[in-house]
Amino acid sequence: MTADLDHATRQIASEEFVRNFARALWMTPAGWLVVVAMAWSLAPRDSLILWLAVALVVWLVCVVRIRRVVREGIDHVRHRRSTWGTALLDGAGWGLLPLFLMGHDPTLDGRLAAVHCGVIAVTLGIYITEPRALALHVAGTWVGLLVAWTMSDGLHWSILFGLAVMHGLTLSLLPPITDRVVRGIYLQQANARLAEQLGEHLVAAEEEAATDPLTGVLNRRALERVLDKEIARADSAGMVDTCVLVLDLDHFKAINDTHGHAAGDEALRAFAARIRVQLRQTDHLARMGGEEFVVVLPGAPQTKAVEIAERLRAAVAEAPLVDAPRVRATVSIGIARRYAGETAASLLARADAAAYAAKRDGRNRVVLAGD
Ligand code: GH3
Ligand code: MG
Ligand code: MG
Repeated sequence: MTADLDHATRQIASEEFVRNFARALWMTPAGWLVVVAMAWSLAPRDSLILWLAVALVVWLVCVVRIRRVVREGIDHVRHRRSTWGTALLDGAGWGLLPLFLMGHDPTLDGRLAAVHCGVIAVTLGIYITEPRALALHVAGTWVGLLVAWTMSDGLHWSILFGLAVMHGLTLSLLPPITDRVVRGIYLQQANARLAEQLGEHLVAAEEEAATDPLTGVLNRRALERVLDKEIARADSAGMVDTCVLVLDLDHFKAINDTHGHAAGDEALRAFAARIRVQLRQTDHLARMGGEEFVVVLPGAPQTKAVEIAERLRAAVAEAPLVDAPRVRATVSIGIARRYAGETAASLLARADAAAYAAKRDGRNRVVLAGD
């Protein structure tokens, strides 16, 4: 494992453990209820109350410590002592059970031994990513058990023997499982991050694939998609007007010849920008190739489209597209309003024919297509 991977997996192990531990601590009182139910008629009431009081104090300390770690943002290096110390304390809380409640009655001793087995079973699920913390939990339990062993003659050695075997087996079986669980979580998180990055790249790639590199407006392919979508929407909304404009710059070849290709490019960029600012956010502007552009006006009635086209024509003609070198240009515009059921290709062809008519009629003008 590289150092980075090692650090990442340790952090994952620590986060999993602390979160599970913090959640599970709220279930501890359920364990006390089990003990109370089992010991109610078999242990002296004073001992039971005393144990409950000790268990409550230990539990409160654990809750406060683990909540602080969560609040501070779990860090496997900074909080190692704190979390492991809490694990030790958690174990000690259960380890003290025999000191108060065992040695009074053999039946109760057997039941409480079963409780201890239950505790280690539940604890295993919580500590699955942190075997070292589990070892400390078990150590804490054994501190309590050994104190009880020395102070109570009634506690049978076989119970300690049984618990030692259970604890030993649990601790020896856990590490390889932990390794696979932590690596699994690590891969899961890495996959989620990768999927997110992939999604972002995909969006960027889609945008790039839809954009004309010179002017930054939509390219021909994107225009075709947009137009199909607008037509489908118009059809489903029940005959909403859609108008298309074809804009072809006049005598652009002469601009290139006079000022050079670079100035021509600059003029195309400026032209696209000037048109774009005249349109609404919901309108579409695309470069079909060369010096020919298309504007889609969704929901625009014919009179409105003519008005917009005239505004665009004037905006181009009224001021130079580029100042240095000074490049002036005009544009011829053809308009077509979609009739019911018309395809995108037919709509574009009619607008194109209208633009051609505008050229023929003298350029720098707007012509409306017939049906
Ligand atoms: P008309 O008024 O009839 O449209 O004349 P025009 O010169 O604009 O039309 P024509 O189709 O004869 O020429 C278009 C010119 O546009 C030719 C080409 O050099 C120029 N052109 C096409 N694409 C680009 C480009 O990306 N950059 C530059 N600078 N020029 C381009
Ligand atoms: Mg032209
Ligand atoms: Mg042309």
